[in-house]
Amino acid sequence: MSDCLFCRIIDKKLPAQLVQEDKEWVAFKDINPQAPTHVLIVPRRHIPALSASTDADGALLGQLQRAAAILAEKLGLSSFRVVVNNGAGAGQTVEHIHYHLLGGRGLKWPPG
Ligand code: AMP
Ligand code: ZN
Repeated sequence: MSDCLFCRIIDKKLPAQLVQEDKEWVAFKDINPQAPTHVLIVPRRHIPALSASTDADGALLGQLQRAAAILAEKLGLSSFRVVVNNGAGAGQTVEHIHYHLLGGRGLKWPPG
Protein backbone atom coordinates (compact mmCIF):
# COMPACT_ATOMS: atom_id res chain seq x y z
CA MET A 1 0.00 0.00 0.00
CA SER A 2 1.58 3.24 -1.16
CA ASP A 3 0.12 5.30 1.71
CA CYS A 4 1.35 2.92 4.41
CA LEU A 5 4.50 3.96 6.24
CA PHE A 6 5.76 0.42 6.82
CA CYS A 7 4.98 -0.70 3.25
CA ARG A 8 7.10 2.22 2.08
CA ILE A 9 9.97 1.15 4.35
CA ILE A 10 9.62 -2.45 3.10
CA ASP A 11 9.69 -1.18 -0.50
CA LYS A 12 12.78 0.91 0.37
CA LYS A 13 10.99 4.13 -0.53
CA LEU A 14 11.70 5.39 2.99
CA PRO A 15 14.96 4.83 4.88
CA ALA A 16 15.17 2.66 7.98
CA GLN A 17 17.90 1.05 10.05
CA LEU A 18 17.48 -2.52 8.87
CA VAL A 19 18.34 -5.32 11.28
CA GLN A 20 17.41 -8.34 9.15
CA GLU A 21 15.38 -9.14 6.06
CA ASP A 22 13.59 -12.39 5.33
CA LYS A 23 11.38 -13.60 2.49
CA GLU A 24 8.30 -12.90 4.59
CA TRP A 25 9.34 -10.11 6.96
CA VAL A 26 11.61 -7.14 7.56
CA ALA A 27 13.08 -6.07 10.91
CA PHE A 28 14.30 -2.52 11.54
CA LYS A 29 15.11 -0.29 14.50
CA ASP A 30 12.27 1.73 16.00
CA ILE A 31 12.81 5.44 15.34
CA ASN A 32 11.72 6.26 18.93
CA PRO A 33 13.23 3.44 20.98
CA GLN A 34 11.63 2.58 24.31
CA ALA A 35 14.51 0.32 25.38
CA PRO A 36 18.21 -0.06 24.45
CA THR A 37 17.07 -2.65 21.90
CA HIS A 38 13.77 -1.83 20.19
CA VAL A 39 13.22 -3.55 16.88
CA LEU A 40 10.04 -3.71 14.79
CA ILE A 41 9.28 -6.95 12.95
CA VAL A 42 6.95 -6.32 10.04
CA PRO A 43 5.50 -8.75 7.50
CA ARG A 44 6.01 -7.83 3.86
CA ARG A 45 2.31 -8.43 3.32
CA HIS A 46 0.10 -5.55 4.47
CA ILE A 47 -2.19 -6.64 7.30
CA PRO A 48 -3.63 -3.59 9.12
CA ALA A 49 -3.76 -5.10 12.62
CA LEU A 50 -3.71 -8.38 14.52
CA SER A 51 -7.50 -8.18 14.72
CA ALA A 52 -7.63 -8.03 10.90
CA SER A 53 -5.71 -11.30 10.55
CA THR A 54 -7.47 -14.48 9.53
CA ASP A 55 -6.81 -18.19 9.93
CA ALA A 56 -4.97 -18.01 6.60
CA ASP A 57 -2.41 -15.71 8.27
CA GLY A 58 -1.61 -18.19 11.04
CA ALA A 59 1.65 -19.46 9.54
CA LEU A 60 2.85 -15.91 8.89
CA LEU A 61 2.07 -14.84 12.45
CA GLY A 62 4.05 -17.83 13.67
CA GLN A 63 6.98 -16.76 11.50
CA LEU A 64 6.87 -13.26 12.99
CA GLN A 65 6.99 -14.70 16.48
CA ARG A 66 9.88 -16.97 15.49
CA ALA A 67 11.59 -13.91 14.01
CA ALA A 68 11.43 -12.27 17.43
CA ALA A 69 13.20 -15.26 19.00
CA ILE A 70 15.81 -15.41 16.21
CA LEU A 71 16.53 -11.68 16.46
CA ALA A 72 16.66 -11.76 20.27
CA GLU A 73 19.34 -14.42 20.07
CA LYS A 74 21.19 -12.54 17.34
CA LEU A 75 21.11 -9.34 19.41
CA GLY A 76 22.23 -11.10 22.59
CA LEU A 77 19.00 -10.69 24.56
CA SER A 78 18.35 -13.39 27.14
CA SER A 79 15.31 -11.52 28.50
CA PHE A 80 13.06 -9.60 26.19
CA ARG A 81 9.45 -8.65 25.51
CA VAL A 82 7.39 -9.01 22.34
CA VAL A 83 4.45 -6.62 22.02
CA VAL A 84 1.67 -6.15 19.48
CA ASN A 85 -0.44 -3.05 20.01
CA ASN A 86 -3.89 -3.50 18.49
CA GLY A 87 -6.10 -0.46 18.07
CA ALA A 88 -5.63 3.17 19.01
CA GLY A 89 -6.62 2.54 22.62
CA ALA A 90 -3.71 0.13 22.97
CA GLY A 91 -1.26 2.54 21.35
CA GLN A 92 -1.30 1.34 17.74
CA THR A 93 -0.24 4.26 15.56
CA VAL A 94 0.78 2.48 12.34
CA GLU A 95 -1.88 0.37 10.66
CA HIS A 96 0.42 -2.36 9.38
CA ILE A 97 0.81 -5.18 11.86
CA HIS A 98 4.16 -5.16 13.64
CA TYR A 99 5.77 -6.92 16.55
CA HIS A 100 7.87 -4.81 18.90
CA LEU A 101 10.95 -6.60 20.25
CA LEU A 102 12.16 -4.81 23.38
CA GLY A 103 15.15 -5.63 25.55
CA GLY A 104 18.39 -4.50 27.08
CA ARG A 105 16.84 -3.19 30.31
CA GLY A 106 14.59 -4.45 33.06
CA LEU A 107 10.96 -4.47 31.92
CA LYS A 108 8.19 -3.88 34.45
CA TRP A 109 4.91 -5.76 34.57
CA PRO A 110 2.15 -4.86 33.91
CA PRO A 111 2.97 -2.50 31.04
CA GLY A 112 1.20 0.85 31.12
P1 AMP B 1 2.65 1.29 17.37
O1 AMP B 1 2.52 2.54 18.19
O2 AMP B 1 2.51 0.01 18.14
O3 AMP B 1 1.77 1.33 16.14
O4 AMP B 1 4.15 1.26 16.84
C1 AMP B 1 4.59 2.05 15.80
C2 AMP B 1 6.05 2.27 16.03
O5 AMP B 1 6.62 2.71 14.82
C3 AMP B 1 6.38 3.32 17.09
O6 AMP B 1 7.11 2.71 18.14
C4 AMP B 1 7.18 4.36 16.33
O7 AMP B 1 8.23 4.90 17.08
C5 AMP B 1 7.67 3.58 15.14
N1 AMP B 1 7.97 4.35 13.95
C6 AMP B 1 7.22 5.33 13.39
N2 AMP B 1 7.81 5.78 12.27
C7 AMP B 1 8.94 5.06 12.10
C8 AMP B 1 9.99 5.06 11.13
N3 AMP B 1 9.98 5.89 10.07
N4 AMP B 1 11.01 4.19 11.28
C9 AMP B 1 11.03 3.35 12.35
N5 AMP B 1 10.08 3.30 13.29
C10 AMP B 1 9.04 4.14 13.18
ZN1 ZN C 1 1.53 -1.59 4.97
